[in-house]
Amino acid sequence: MRTPLMAGNWKMFKTPAETTAFFEKFLPLVAQSTHADVAICPPFVNIAAAVEATKGSRVGVGGQNCYWQNKEGAFTGEVTPAMLKAAGCQYVIIGHSERRQYFGETDATVLARTKAALEAGLTPMVCVGELLADRESGKTNDVLTTQFTGGIAGLTPEEFAKIVIAYEPVWAIGTGKVATPEIAQDTHKAIRDLVEAKFGKDAAAAVRILYGGSVKPDNVTGLMAKPDIDGALVGGAALKAEDFAGVVNF
Ligand code: PEP
Repeated sequence: MRTPLMAGNWKMFKTPAETTAFFEKFLPLVAQSTHADVAICPPFVNIAAAVEATKGSRVGVGGQNCYWQNKEGAFTGEVTPAMLKAAGCQYVIIGHSERRQYFGETDATVLARTKAALEAGLTPMVCVGELLADRESGKTNDVLTTQFTGGIAGLTPEEFAKIVIAYEPVWAIGTGKVATPEIAQDTHKAIRDLVEAKFGKDAAAAVRILYGGSVKPDNVTGLMAKPDIDGALVGGAALKAEDFAGVVNF
């Protein structure tokens, strides 16, 4: 049985004070929600406030990106996975489509960052997903295979066992156009098949594959009813305590 993971990606939103205020409202709403693991990935500057606010709760904290080595160095603007761990994070998002689109993230750097995150003891949520043009031209599976082969297949079986995959069709992120549960299920199954071919049946049965892309309280139930959807990576709807609690308590 795979425990669902409901993770919020705050992107570049909120201050430390707003972070504290969010958790004051959010934690009581999910205090009984033992059916799922829950995490929030705020901007780096809000991690301390999030860790402080979630102390003693079941809610984990994660980064939205990390550097691809743990050794400190002269890399302005970067943060090592070990620093995230020391700051109290349990998770880190890697290879989000916005990082791929705007900041030059490649499958090779996704793989390197994932290995470094694992070395630091974080749980990487590794993102994959196709563009609208890829889906419309029937290339979804090719794109996912390329991203899987370059960004994930280079992990050892022991490393792979510790990651979470997030399927985020780029056309559904921040657009309000959620994938239908059927489209999401088909694609999740295709990703699980890739995992099985590379890492075997047990690994495929164990890995959590989250869906991301315009998940809201009113569409999460249909998605979570599908057998290969093991949780959600949530952007916009994770910014409001009531909305994200509505997603967590699907
Ligand atoms: C995301 O940022 O990962 C995301 C899925 O965003 P949204 O839920 O707003 O589409």
